[in-house]
Amino acid sequence: MPDVLIIGNGITGGTLACALAQKGLEVVVVDQYPPQVHLPSDGKSFALSRSSHALFSALGIWQDLNEITPITTIHTSDGVLPQWVDYTEEDVQGGPLGYVVDSMLLKSKILEHVLSYQNITLHAPTLVAHLERTSSHTLVKTSQGTVLKAPLCIASDGRFSTIRDGANIPLIKWNYDQTAIVCNMGHTLPHHNQAFEHFLPSGPLAFVPRPGNESGLIWSIEKEKAPCLLSLSPEDFAEEVQAHFGPSLGTFTLASDRWSYPLSVCLPKRFIDTRLALLGDAAHTFHPVAGQGLNVGLRDVATLAELMGEAASLGLDLGSPHVLERYQKRRRTDILSMTFLTDGIVRAFSTQSRLMARARSLGFGAVNHCTPLKNFMIRHAMGV
Ligand SMILES: Cc1cc2nc3c(=O)[nH]c(=O)nc-3n(C[C@H](O)[C@H](O)[C@H](O)COP(=O)(O)OP(=O)(O)OC[C@H]3O[C@@H](n4cnc5c(N)ncnc54)[C@H](O)[C@@H]3O)c2cc1C
Repeated sequence: MPDVLIIGNGITGGTLACALAQKGLEVVVVDQYPPQVHLPSDGKSFALSRSSHALFSALGIWQDLNEITPITTIHTSDGVLPQWVDYTEEDVQGGPLGYVVDSMLLKSKILEHVLSYQNITLHAPTLVAHLERTSSHTLVKTSQGTVLKAPLCIASDGRFSTIRDGANIPLIKWNYDQTAIVCNMGHTLPHHNQAFEHFLPSGPLAFVPRPGNESGLIWSIEKEKAPCLLSLSPEDFAEEVQAHFGPSLGTFTLASDRWSYPLSVCLPKRFIDTRLALLGDAAHTFHPVAGQGLNVGLRDVATLAELMGEAASLGLDLGSPHVLERYQKRRRTDILSMTFLTDGIVRAFSTQSRLMARARSLGFGAVNHCTPLKNFMIRHAMGV
């Protein structure tokens, strides 16, 4: 019998599989799509924190990522008031504030590692036709008829997790009425490894640096405006970006296709159930304003791998309530604080209210003049 069944071979599920396999555990992974090392792009450029960097380095995955762009400065500004905060490498010790990695590059390297472990068995493409969880085990029947049994099941099947929904875990959910448009933009001036976040009343517009004179755009806008922006010619779209962002990166050109993502929050009331743990977007989906969804998911991975490794070395039951309760307890504060922090930021900036503008002005001033507060915010975002 394997030690664990992981449903969902995305970034968090695949990384957990590698972390557990590295500890010598027998892992079975199920995914609905076939394993493809050369995947079509989803347009995302991930801003990864130091904690994500540390996890991927320990697994030998970081060393295989041949295109990583360090972030040395984050320039945040109020789109309405002349207020800004710059976070720089000098604000924190020990190197860049974060790193930008192309989503498809990261996914394909994780998949290569998953496929390289003898103690990981991947069932893909296949779906979970039946899932049974009892006090002693969890049993999955796949759509091909294969029966898989283990002491613990991990749901890493993303924001619309059917495994989570099947466990009837209550959810707190809301939509933002915003859509994120993501793509790569070329620009005539170098980015000097700077990331930018402009908080516009219609939603945040962010750039993260990519190799060469290119940056990844994440532009959150009112959802009814998205179809129009997506249908503009590349030249007209670049002009719109220019008009909303300004001249800091020179003249823009569209350098890729455009993708769009509706934005919402999904927070389960608990992250565990009988012989089940939720991981990554299945456990928390929030606004990408701070580029933190995956980083928080990778902190779930690090915690679960540590607890399961400890339990295995002591010969304990990996799916016992004791292990699961410890996972939930250790992850709760990070997940809740990031969900409500990102929500607070989005709401504070997506308003024309003068009172809120005054509050924002005070907030920017406080962060700029209070070094401990500034350090706390940047260190939290970096996962330090
Ligand atoms: C516009 C945007 C920008 C973002 N930028 C950042 C950023 O800069 N930094 C950051 O940290 N985060 C960012 N995020 C968040 C990040 O994209 C997610 O948190 C992350 O991709 C979630 O990974 P996951 O592995 O948990 O889920 P997913 O990537 O959704 O993977 C789920 C996996 O489960 C499989 N699956 C689903 N259902 C089933 C099923 N029934 N049976 C079998 N398999 C199944 C899928 O095929 C997939 O492989 C961003 C999000 C958005 C929308």
